[in-house]
Amino acid sequence: MRVAVGLVLCLLLASFPVASAQPDSNEDEAWPGDPIDSHVHMTWAALTLEVNGWADDYPEIVDLTSVGESELGKTLWVVRLSDWSMDTKANGSAKEIVYIDGGHHGNEYLGTALAWLSAKWYIQGWAEGNQEAIDVLQNTEVHILIMLNPDGNDIDTRWNINQVDLNRNYDHYWNTCPTTQPGSSAFSESETAANSNYMNTEVPNADLYVTMHTGVWIMLYPWGKWPEQPSDWELYHQIREDVNDDISSIPIQNANQGLYPNCGTSRDYGYGVMGYPTFTFETDDEQFVPGSFENLNDRLGEEMDVMRYLISNVWYWRARLDVQSLEISDDEISIDVANQGQASSSNTTLRYVDTDGNSLWESNSFAVNATNSSIISLDARNLSLTTDGSWELYYQIRVVDSARWVSEPINSSVLVMVENEESNFLIGYGLFNPVTLIAGFAAIAAFVQREESDEE
Ligand SMILES: [Zn+2]
Repeated sequence: MRVAVGLVLCLLLASFPVASAQPDSNEDEAWPGDPIDSHVHMTWAALTLEVNGWADDYPEIVDLTSVGESELGKTLWVVRLSDWSMDTKANGSAKEIVYIDGGHHGNEYLGTALAWLSAKWYIQGWAEGNQEAIDVLQNTEVHILIMLNPDGNDIDTRWNINQVDLNRNYDHYWNTCPTTQPGSSAFSESETAANSNYMNTEVPNADLYVTMHTGVWIMLYPWGKWPEQPSDWELYHQIREDVNDDISSIPIQNANQGLYPNCGTSRDYGYGVMGYPTFTFETDDEQFVPGSFENLNDRLGEEMDVMRYLISNVWYWRARLDVQSLEISDDEISIDVANQGQASSSNTTLRYVDTDGNSLWESNSFAVNATNSSIISLDARNLSLTTDGSWELYYQIRVVDSARWVSEPINSSVLVMVENEESNFLIGYGLFNPVTLIAGFAAIAAFVQREESDEE
């Protein structure tokens, strides 16, 4: 693919002399493109040169791929950033995933520019030894599709080449709002079909999706379809509070109320179908200063600060349940669960599983609120312990129906067996209760056998 691209570029370069006419000192740092009106218009050809250059210069962190092609056959580049020398974090756990796209609307330069800058910031930071950039790239995969609509971009229009509004073409309540040019059906356009395919196959586990536009200065979270707050309103409101208190006064609102009702958007699809926390980042369109990376960095510095916050803290954008203690008596289980994340889980069950992961027993479901700790009592009368069973939590990492399910093992070190000489008296926490703590599964089995014989 790269060889073919090089050939195409040779043909295209002749018609884009400005892309390589930046001052030498800024050549590596400049937003590539031609000054047009008050904007710098980056062509797809200039972008193609740029991202291939990144991949050539920084192979240790830049993995260049694509989601597919536009209607006119232009490659839809994805810059995948991470420290690729490690498949996982240093502690062996999976890296967090961030997905970003820009340029759904081909005439919204600053949205595309913020997607470009989001890649450039981490690449440059890595190259300069910036600790924040290094930490992010060692713990996160950041996938950035800078220009989703290159056909529209290159002729300076909102629509794609088929005159379709790509951000009304997604398969989430498609064409159910007053709208124009949503396409002949959901995913009728190659750009949106390719983008959703990438979401479903390459980044289904993302914990952040930001889609970048230009229009008014606002960040929009779901829904566009409905005026009501989304199920994960706590997460969105916490992010708004953090951003507005510490970083930027940018308005952050539900899209339906903050802008106008809109359906079939990538933001609502990302949340309602993929289960990601999603934002439409609308940068405004004024005072664009043509020129160097420094100017663009200044122009979008505040917006980039917000992106750095969202990316650095991606670990928190889901429920992170952490069992503090699991106390088992003969007919009841008391579980103390802390939620380290900023999202709630409304569908958590405690499971007792065999070595193949098959569920031997499952509790009723319970909720654990964001950044909270809950002590829950569960009916355990039907529980039979075995010598090789183990415990896990099975839960949805956010409240929205589409949220991903995870099963996470519970460390046996938090397990407490409570033996009670008086069979119907439940013993709780505390030093004053006549508690006997027994560790180990063999002891548990013996305990259960004795309880059973007592009853007979
Ligand atoms: Zn737009």
